[in-house]
Amino acid sequence: MGDMATIRNIVILTGAGISAESGLRTFRAEDGLWEDHPVEEVATPQGFARDPELVQRFYDERRTGVLAALPNPAHDALARLDRDWDGGLLIVTQNIDDLHERAGASRVLHMHGEALSVWCTACDARHRWEGSLLDGPACPACGAVSMRPDIVWFGEMPYRMEEIFAALADADLFVSIGTSGAVYPAAGFVQQAASHGAHTIELNLERSQGSAFFDESRLGLASELVPAWVAEVLGR
Ligand code: NAD
Repeated sequence: MGDMATIRNIVILTGAGISAESGLRTFRAEDGLWEDHPVEEVATPQGFARDPELVQRFYDERRTGVLAALPNPAHDALARLDRDWDGGLLIVTQNIDDLHERAGASRVLHMHGEALSVWCTACDARHRWEGSLLDGPACPACGAVSMRPDIVWFGEMPYRMEEIFAALADADLFVSIGTSGAVYPAAGFVQQAASHGAHTIELNLERSQGSAFFDESRLGLASELVPAWVAEVLGR
């Protein structure tokens, strides 16, 4: 990897692949979530308007799955990095699970929302939510029956983009883990970071769609690649 002695700021992008070994299905695999449900049905505002019950049921299932899953060695390793790295660090995750946090990481940003959060479109409040939204519970803040999953759907703006682009502009090292590179704007982060001079690495089961943009590609399981990479960084 680049010259570790000069690395100060690290940005990490994680995707569904880092949680696959925790038993959470990725979206694009053969047995992926999109196989059961076309993306337009469950992950667009139009799909929600057309069939709110189907969409609430889909995210009720995601919530249950997330609560049952446990962090794996890849999440644990990033939590160790977060604890021991004195330089800048931002873990930008596309995942809606909370496995980074449960492993102990705190410098985490959920650009696509969170399974265990719900959003009231009447009063704009967000609440931690572990139960169902299917029977239309009232918002604890305003009482309206207007709560939806706090998930960024296709066609909606990802959260905290300014913060992400500022971190990418300052990054000396950009590492992409377990993401197919199919969903923008996240798929463009590697070029953003590289254009500001960052060294770029992908850790993934197979080459991602943007593989050619990375300085290094390491292929394998996140549970093996991530702990090995973190050990390299911390052992500099
Ligand atoms: P994706 O399904 O498109 O790609 C996953 C990538 O991970 C693939 O390239 C695959 O080869 C790789 N992978 C699979 N198992 C792996 C392993 N054990 N180790 C390393 N790599 C592995 O997922 P994505 O790129 O995150 O897709 C984008 C969308 O999917 C995001 O919007 C995200 O919010 C959503 N998503 C989130 C979750 C979650 O929160 N756990 C689950 C599914 C999908």
